[in-house]
Amino acid sequence: MARAAETTSDIAEAGGPRPLQLTALTKEFAAFTAVDSLDLEIPQGSFFALLGPSGCGKTTTLRMVAGLETPTSGTIHLGDREITYDKPYKRPVNTVFQNYALFPHLDISKNVAFGLQRRGIKDVKKQVADMLELVELTSQAHKKPAQMSGGQQQRVALARALINKPEVLLLDEPLGALDLKLRRGMQIELKRIQTEVGLTFVHVTHDQEEAMTMADTIAVMNHGVIEQMGAPNDLYENPRTTFVANFLGQSNLIAGEIEGREGDHVKVRVQGALASVPGDRAHADSGQGWLGIRPEKVLIAESGETIDAPGETITGGYVTDVSFVGVSTQYMVRMPWGQTLMVFEQNTGSRRMLAVGTKVDVSWRPEYAFLLDASQDAHAGMED
Ligand code: ATP
Repeated sequence: MARAAETTSDIAEAGGPRPLQLTALTKEFAAFTAVDSLDLEIPQGSFFALLGPSGCGKTTTLRMVAGLETPTSGTIHLGDREITYDKPYKRPVNTVFQNYALFPHLDISKNVAFGLQRRGIKDVKKQVADMLELVELTSQAHKKPAQMSGGQQQRVALARALINKPEVLLLDEPLGALDLKLRRGMQIELKRIQTEVGLTFVHVTHDQEEAMTMADTIAVMNHGVIEQMGAPNDLYENPRTTFVANFLGQSNLIAGEIEGREGDHVKVRVQGALASVPGDRAHADSGQGWLGIRPEKVLIAESGETIDAPGETITGGYVTDVSFVGVSTQYMVRMPWGQTLMVFEQNTGSRRMLAVGTKVDVSWRPEYAFLLDASQDAHAGMED
């Protein structure tokens, strides 16, 4: 059937790689711009995450790709084919929603077979069996959705979408309804399935850990625009904005005066110390800046004691709070200029825990610092 052929990834195989391309994609709701001239190229076969806080426009973006929302302007292409105004069912795209949307009266195998049967395909047994095997639910084929756990239902929803062999699978907060432990397990499962089937997955989430666990590439979205895009570790290690520094993990941002470039480093005067930031991690090179250091990159020792592998050191802090969280201990350290720094120290057992009130020095390796323009709000992207 014509539609069956259109909705398979066979087209892609015949025509070479087909990235999903959004160009100047915009969605306005009355006077409010939910998605603001978004440019994005998602390579075929990648696991791509759109990450951002509630209301940043990620679901609206996904809905435009699915054809459930009409863009105000801009285009959507899959390879050379423009799909901006195609009907949802004409697009080689399927969506998995947070609430599964399974048919309660049909058993699992019938739920999975649904898309093929709707297209008039009679012999679906082998494909359904393959899909159930892929999501490891072969033994549950005859159960009804209500007899399954949330995680199992989500895997059925995934199988039901994948059986249509879409070129692009859209996942809208797919693990949002699951409890934390199940969610972690499903993240690994989803990544395995994506690697196995090799389709483009576009995953929308506000959970930074979820995006980092699964995605090859993350686009961090804020107020309808992409703040930064890249591999999870690049974004984490080298954020370009205070929003990314705070939304993806946590950061200490210390105010400093940028003295300028010296070779391949930028020098910053922070609270009496002259710190150095590698040139490729410095996103400002004059005026005021925020010197950024991740909490786990800050080393701590009792005042006067030798810090293991020290770098730039600032003295005169004291511990105001200690939280033991198993693998690490998290300290809050009040610095002489009134700012509180976060320090996460791995519990290697090499020394005892520092008590509240202990006078401490902190230090960090210059290669782990980053530098941001101080015109940005230091609290942008922080959770309430
Ligand atoms: P969440 O994670 O909470 O779903 P999101 O990042 O996915 O957030 P969107 O659902 O894309 O955000 O919404 C972006 C903005 O557009 C929000 O401020 C929302 O209120 C607004 N919006 C979405 N749909 C409509 C609509 N149909 N009419 C008016 N405003 C809308």
